[in-house]
Amino acid sequence: MQSTIPSAGDPIEARCTKCRKNTNHIIVAMAKEVPVKVECNTCSGQHKYRPPTAPRKPAVRRTVDPKIAERKEREELMPTMGGKQKTDYTMTTAFKVGSLMNHPVFGVGIVRSLGGPRKIKVLFEDGLKTMRCK
Ligand SMILES: [Zn+2]
Repeated sequence: MQSTIPSAGDPIEARCTKCRKNTNHIIVAMAKEVPVKVECNTCSGQHKYRPPTAPRKPAVRRTVDPKIAERKEREELMPTMGGKQKTDYTMTTAFKVGSLMNHPVFGVGIVRSLGGPRKIKVLFEDGLKTMRCK
C-alpha cells in the first residue's frame, strides 16, 4: 500500500534557489508530514523545502485582428472626409496623405500614410492595403 504522505528519501518537486527553477528533489528530512529539508537532484544542494512555484502564465496576448482595428480607424476617419473629392486610383496618380481614393476593386479608401518609395497605405473597407502610386 502506498502512502500519500511523503517520507525522507522520497522524490519531491521543489523550488531550488540555486537552479532558479522547480527541480526534482529528494526529501532529506521531514517534520511530521511536511518536508523541511530537501536535496536538489540537479545541483545536489541541500536546502529548506520550498513548494514549487506555479509556472508563470504566459502573458495573455489578445489576438486582435489587425483588420478590425483598421476598419475601426476607417470608420472614425470617414466622417472627417465628407467634403473631400475622391480620386480614381491609377498607379500613375500622386496621392496625398489624408485624401480619398476611389479604387475599382476595393472601393473608397483613405490614404493613411506613405508606405515607402512610390507606395501609399490606404484604408479600405477591407483593411489597410499598400498601393503603388506616383
Ligand atoms: Zn538545484
